[in-house]
Order: sequence, then structure tokens, then C-alpha cells
Amino acid sequence: MTRRWQAPQRGAVDPSFGPSSSGGVATELDADEHWAVPGAVAVPELVELLDLADQGRPWLRSRVLCQVALGEHQLPVPVLTLGSTRADAPVALFVGGVHGLERIGAQAVLAYLRSLVMRLRWDDSLHHQLDTVRLVFVPVLNPGGMWLGTRANPNGVDLMRSAPVDADEPVALLAGGHRISAALPWYRGKLGAPAEVEATALCQVVETELQRSPFVLALDCHSGFGLSDRLWFPWACSRAPMPHVAELHALGQIMDASLIHHRYVLEPQSRQYLTHGDLWDHLYRRAIDRGTGLLLPLTLEMGSWLWVKKNPRQLFSRRGIFNPELAHRQQRVLRRHLGGLDFITRAAASWQRWLPQGAARQQHQDQAMVRWYGPRR
Ligand SMILES: [Zn+2]
Repeated sequence: MTRRWQAPQRGAVDPSFGPSSSGGVATELDADEHWAVPGAVAVPELVELLDLADQGRPWLRSRVLCQVALGEHQLPVPVLTLGSTRADAPVALFVGGVHGLERIGAQAVLAYLRSLVMRLRWDDSLHHQLDTVRLVFVPVLNPGGMWLGTRANPNGVDLMRSAPVDADEPVALLAGGHRISAALPWYRGKLGAPAEVEATALCQVVETELQRSPFVLALDCHSGFGLSDRLWFPWACSRAPMPHVAELHALGQIMDASLIHHRYVLEPQSRQYLTHGDLWDHLYRRAIDRGTGLLLPLTLEMGSWLWVKKNPRQLFSRRGIFNPELAHRQQRVLRRHLGGLDFITRAAASWQRWLPQGAARQQHQDQAMVRWYGPRR
């Protein structure tokens, strides 16, 4: 049993974490089903999600990935899919609500999904775009944490510290992930315990898409670190460059050129801090080992310290540290990221036009090494 949670060697991956341990990955993410949320649910984002699932029919397909137990309630973790059902279509995946406290991440994904659902009714260009790309949404991965207002899931496990990946050098005490107690934040879970249902659900979504699609661009929306909006890519577990820095550098180049005046800082997460157990490290490493489909995972870390700076009273509420509390600021934040999320969709749809090959790839590789892994300027 302990073997399943030991850190895999670099390049090797623990096959027992996630959906594969129970007989392979389900491939029915596109099925449409009617589902409900408990009557007295205290997660407004889940109610919004249910409304969008209804309003988006027949284009938007939805199903429940798993149920999370919380007291007498079972909270659904829904996945919604839009666009091409062709196996070889590229995929843009949007994830939110991994940390229950960081509601603004879920809200950013839902705001983008709502704008798409409304456009489906009148915008031919959107329908044309959706012929070429599949959009997959998991806006509320941790509904129990959102209900409770906690970073962790109801078991006290921080999903982004729970994967079987150990950092290759010492990490910050507690915040880098620990196994001391579920009563403390950033808890990784017990060594040898089975994967949390929410983590398994995310692995299932990613691996189902990677089994059939040649390209998956993922964006996982968080908040709570720093003054800038950061787009992080692996590794979180190591300062070493990940194998696709050339591709990420090329993505950054088209973003700078076309998403004019954007405020995102694109960089490896390891430039800020290292952690154990990052789910995207795990999924990315697994994707490389499997060799089917290219996964480029990004984490959007919205810079919440700016909201606190402008409204210092937020410091006195736990929620306020992670979310803009004034309505106009919340609207501004959501509005700003609509363009960023739409860029991800477009980049996924047209991946073959910008993904560098041959000599161009080598150039991007060299530039990426200077930009992100050289001495700090
Ligand atoms: Zn987070």
C-alpha cells in the first residue's frame, strides 16, 4: 500500500493514482444527463452551473464526474462539454474551484461559460469555431470546500498538494505541502491513502481527453498570490525546465502579440515557490510518459494582494484575502479575464499554426531558457 504514494522517479509515474487504477478511463464525458444540486445548497456557483447546463442545451453536454459527501448532502462535481465531438479535435480545458476559498477562480470560468452559452444563440462565428475545438469545463472541482469556505476539500486535503509527486528540494514549511495534520492548511493527506475523489475526477477528465485528442491546453483558475496575474506552468516540484518550454514560449509570444495590453506574467511556477503534490505536475508527467497527446497545463493565479491593497478591510476576512469583495472590483476582475480565457480557446483551436517545429522550436527553446531559467535580471 505505501508504494502508491511514494514519489515516482523523474520520468516514471505512479500508475495507481487517479482513474487508471480502477480499470481504465471512462470515455463518456460527452454524454448529456440531467442532474440536480441539493435543495439547500450553499454553493451559488453550483446553482449557476446548473442553470448554465440547462440553458446551454442542446449544445452544452453535462454530466456528473463524482459526488462529494458533506454531512447529509452529496454535492456533484459536474463537467460540461461544448464543441467538436471528433476524437482528434484539440481541447481547451477550464478548471475552477480547486481551492474552496478562491471563489473568484470558479466565477471567472463560469462568467466565460455564460458568455459562450449566450453567444450560442446568435453568433455564427462561435458555432464555426466550435466545429474545430472541444471546450471542457470543470468550474467547481471542490464543491465541499466551497460550501465550507475552506481551501481544502471536506477531508481537509489540499487537492493541489495531494498528488504523488515530491519536490526535488526542500519546500516552505506547511505551504509547500505536509503530512502533519488535516487541521493545518496545505495538508497532503496520509501517506498511502487513496486519491481524493475530486483529484480522481480531474485526472479522469484530463486523461480521457488525452487518450483521444492530440492537444490539450488546460487553464486552472486560482487566486491569492502576489500583485500580478500569473500564468504558471510546470514544474511546481522542481526548478528544472519542463520538456515543453519551447511550446510555452511560443504561446507567450502569440499572447503578447495578440492579447494587446494583457497583464499576465507567464512563467514556471518554480520561479515563485516549490510544492509537493501538484496535480498538474502529476498529470503532465503522466502525459509525457504515455506519449499520446500533448498536455500544456497552465494555472492562472490572480493577484489578490492588489484587491486587498485597494480595500484593506478585506484583510480582516479570510474570504477577502482571496476574492475581490467590492462589486465593481469583482466585475472588473471577471471582465478582464474573459479575454484571457477566450485566448486559451483560440490558441487550442489553432494549435498547429503556432506550435513551433524544427529550427523555430530550437529558437524558442533557447529564448525560453534565457527568459525563465537564466540568472534573474
Ligand atoms: Zn489556489
